Amino acid sequence: MKKLIDKLERQKILTADEFLILLQKFSNAKISNYLAQKARAITQKHFDNKIYIRGLIEFTNYCRNDCFYCGIRKSNLNAQRYRLSNQEIFTCCEKGYALGFRTFVLQGGEDLYFTDEKLVEIISHIKKKFHDCAITLSIGEKSFDAYKKFFDAGADRFLLRHETANDSHYKKLHPKNLSLANRKKCLYDLKKIGYQVGCGFMVGSPFQTFANVVEDLLFIQKFSPHMVGIGPFIAHKDTKFSAMPNGNLALTLFLISIIRLMLPNALIPATTALGTIDNDGREKGILHGANVLMPNLSPISVRKKYSLYDNKICTGEEAAECIKCLAARVNKIGYEIVVDRGDYKY
Ligand code: SAH
Repeated sequence: MKKLIDKLERQKILTADEFLILLQKFSNAKISNYLAQKARAITQKHFDNKIYIRGLIEFTNYCRNDCFYCGIRKSNLNAQRYRLSNQEIFTCCEKGYALGFRTFVLQGGEDLYFTDEKLVEIISHIKKKFHDCAITLSIGEKSFDAYKKFFDAGADRFLLRHETANDSHYKKLHPKNLSLANRKKCLYDLKKIGYQVGCGFMVGSPFQTFANVVEDLLFIQKFSPHMVGIGPFIAHKDTKFSAMPNGNLALTLFLISIIRLMLPNALIPATTALGTIDNDGREKGILHGANVLMPNLSPISVRKKYSLYDNKICTGEEAAECIKCLAARVNKIGYEIVVDRGDYKY
């Protein structure tokens, strides 16, 4: 198995069969340690011991979509819906800036209240006021023209997880009106426009097979994103997947390491979902090749309402407390949070 891992490091890709063989060994400590050690060395080579932070602003939980796994899907009548005002969004940025954030991530459901014009206004205002900061959008599927308008207004990056690269698996997770083909088209549009783009998927999403994960890895290698977000699936009580098991910690960490070997200079977050299934999940993510953290900057009053999955961590603390806690956690494992936009280095 070490030979396969060495080959992955060298060639940055394996065949589907080879990936399948490797994945099946995710719970073997010797193999996963060997892989993690390599992933960590590559990360250190490219990023030293620096961890980039992104301030997450969950600005709306209204959503027109009905993704089966998601707690803010439109048919969840138990979700308490909210939208932040422009002023509330700007206040999040101000607080974040003072705490050392130089990237703001605007994430939300697909909320048509925020028209292209409104979003352009918000993006250009943030850009004007915080000209040394990057803006990342995570607002789902839009037209090429809309993506272009946001880019021209100053948005730098876009996160749009592909969710699964297998068409029939995609259909098991989403209603009929959503398609993998359109999700992929959006990703290619974003790249063409010039965004730094992130794709990704949930580990252990319902009905996911190892073969599906192999397809995800092959898609990631082909698309060659600047960022890759992966985190464990976590059931939400108000969805039809409420009784489904959560994604596996060891497999998630194993995949972070594989992705690091495939894309040495990619920006890979240790996600909040990872920190939710394991108390030290985010530290473990970093030790397996992740180099980004995305603490929450949303006002405490709305944090619990942005509930994609159950038991999400850090919904009760001020951003200042979160960053202090994270800095200590990161220091403890020999890394350092830096004040930096943390752009992709081409
Ligand atoms: N509306 C935006 C943002 C989605 S939320 C969009 O369409 O891209 C960001 C990510 O959270 C999703 O892409 C999904 O992968 C993840 N997510 C949603 N529900 C989840 C769950 N139950 N467990 C773990 N991750 C989840």
